[in-house]
Amino acid sequence: MPVNKKISFSIWYIFLAIWAVILVHDFIHALQKLEELPYSEFRTLVAAGSVAEVTVTHQALTGKLKPEEGSREQKLFTTIRVEDPDLVKELNAHHVKFTGVVETTFVRDLMSWLLPTLVFVGIWFFIFRRLGQGQGGFMTVGQSKAKIYAEKDTKVTFADVAGVDEAKDELREVIEFLQTPEKFTRLGGKIPKGILLVGPPGTGKTLLARAVAGEAGVTFFSISGSEFVEMFVGVGAARVRDLFEQAKVKAPCIIFIDELDAIGKARGMGPLAHEEREQTLNQLLVEMDGFDPRIGVILMAATNRPEILDPALLRAGRFDRQVLVDRPDKIGRLAILRVHAKQVVLGPDADLDVIAGMTPGFSGADLANIINEATLLTVRRNKEQVGLPELQEAVERVVAGLEKKNRVLNKMEKERVAYHEVGHALVALSLPGADPIQKISIIPRGIAALGYTLQLPTEDRFLMAKTELENKIAVLLGGRIAEELIFGEASTGAQNDLVNATDIAKSMVKSYGMSEKLGTVTLDRERQPLFMQIQMPQEKGDYSEETAREIDCEVRRIIDEQYERVKVLLAAQKPSLLEGAKQLLEHEVISGADLKAIMGK
Ligand code: ADP
Ligand code: ZN
Repeated sequence: MPVNKKISFSIWYIFLAIWAVILVHDFIHALQKLEELPYSEFRTLVAAGSVAEVTVTHQALTGKLKPEEGSREQKLFTTIRVEDPDLVKELNAHHVKFTGVVETTFVRDLMSWLLPTLVFVGIWFFIFRRLGQGQGGFMTVGQSKAKIYAEKDTKVTFADVAGVDEAKDELREVIEFLQTPEKFTRLGGKIPKGILLVGPPGTGKTLLARAVAGEAGVTFFSISGSEFVEMFVGVGAARVRDLFEQAKVKAPCIIFIDELDAIGKARGMGPLAHEEREQTLNQLLVEMDGFDPRIGVILMAATNRPEILDPALLRAGRFDRQVLVDRPDKIGRLAILRVHAKQVVLGPDADLDVIAGMTPGFSGADLANIINEATLLTVRRNKEQVGLPELQEAVERVVAGLEKKNRVLNKMEKERVAYHEVGHALVALSLPGADPIQKISIIPRGIAALGYTLQLPTEDRFLMAKTELENKIAVLLGGRIAEELIFGEASTGAQNDLVNATDIAKSMVKSYGMSEKLGTVTLDRERQPLFMQIQMPQEKGDYSEETAREIDCEVRRIIDEQYERVKVLLAAQKPSLLEGAKQLLEHEVISGADLKAIMGK
């Protein structure tokens, strides 16, 4: 963990300073050997002529004694001040110098309210931060951990990143721009400003960003979003300003922000809006708007949760370009294994193809870990070359680590997911007007989806006809019905589909007036959710209980109708379903065209 030594502003430093002043003060007093005398003794000393001078203050008398015989040291003393009308006469009589001091009580007064305030504010801050983070001890509070790393040459190239060819293709343009910005500016081409790498952890987002810098031969500035959140209000924003200033000097360069979601969460979310994060985010937005990419600075960021980002971050001129960095398919996994195996000596039996086949759902980081574990095992067994047994055991070890995260499917589950996804796709391909299928995958993705069917609209849609909505419901139901058809029962895997299908049916009835029974009325005021993914509490429109029951009936009728329709459709397509699932299990990813070919047979 990088801990920045640089001292940053903190309440605790003020406390330390005050404490230090008090200590020094006491220390000086102690040095001066200030002797406290009873008043009576003081009078005796005055009478004896041993007092050299006296200073009278509001509450006390301080002064110096005459040096003792044979010594030059003048002892200092202090005594309490009492009402003594004769004192002045007495001092005069013994030729004692005396002065009075008009004591300024300002400092004391100031301290008397400032200190408690500081203590109060300090405690308040301390408690608050504890609440917010749940970690980070006393000493780390206020120490900025967000370190800006600057690498002149990352030494990473595209050859070190495998299995993410699509992402690489999209980033080639950025490299070209960083190498020859003149070319772009001359032609007036649109220059990317912010690029968001989206994908699960360990898929090589950081690696890709560094490779872009390495390929272009520019400086790579990086900073992690999560480190900002632990800082004091104001520090994060200052750090962001710093980062951009440094980058502008070093242009052309890349600024990389890892874990952007830590700073970029939608503002005002949650009961305790996080002041520090908001300031940092605002500063980031300001900086992004304020720089002209033509100077040769490209901003890159990574996140695995794009849906919680503040929409302002994704607006045009900010992170308006998103690059998906997904978990690799089998071919990708093989390529990644090969990249990492370059650094070790493989035995003749070490077939990486076998390992690639064993590891669906693994990220690049997991695969790198396999090679590493296998090497360790080889060393432990006193072998010279990494063999297949070591590799296989390494897979098991990494799987054991991953299983805790619930990512790896067993064989049964994989089969189910395959039929489910092919079910969706078959329905989509059979219905006229449904969005075309791009690809079908059983590589687990994200936390919820075990597989997915990527259906991309060919154009932006603003209007939808009733049949199109019905088709959408049909496609959503296709997964579940395929499972029922093959296994005779449904699984929990279709929950999300059912939720979506029900939502569409509800909207048809309540918002779009598409139910003949209820007529062409809108029963709900459409409420735009504030943020994309955040569920707003649904407001019940003003209709009667009876109408509510009718709505439920209509929703059920719509779903049931589609259910029957899809059931018939898929039963007729059963050979394609079986063949499609078989292909999918074998290759993990198949394209819509592949499936069409199967249907054509
Ligand atoms: P992310 O930023 O997406 O969480 P990283 O870039 O930090 O992932 O990846 C961690 C490590 O995993 C990398 O340093 C690299 O060794 C390995 N790795 C991940 N993805 C790939 C890949 N596509 N090709 C080669 N190695 C990879
Ligand atoms: Zn589904």
